[in-house]
Amino acid sequence: MILCDLCGQAKVCQQKEIDGKEYDICSECWNPLAEKLKGKGRTKKEREMVFLPPVTPEPKREEPKPAPGEPPKIWGRTGRPQ
Ligand SMILES: [Zn+2]
Repeated sequence: MILCDLCGQAKVCQQKEIDGKEYDICSECWNPLAEKLKGKGRTKKEREMVFLPPVTPEPKREEPKPAPGEPPKIWGRTGRPQ
């Protein structure tokens, strides 16, 4: 038996979460309360996630580009041993 948070009587209570707080509420108290609350309130959703942009932007790595126009070096053997 738990003391009902509403009527203060020791009854079989259900744990109800209202407005982020947990209450032990017996069914006798809960039923009229549920009727009152019916159609009100909002569906509980996950805490709104706010995605803030990172304070420091990711460093962009400059990809090393191959130097343009550079002819490939050809290492030719010059001169055979004679
Ligand atoms: Zn009660």
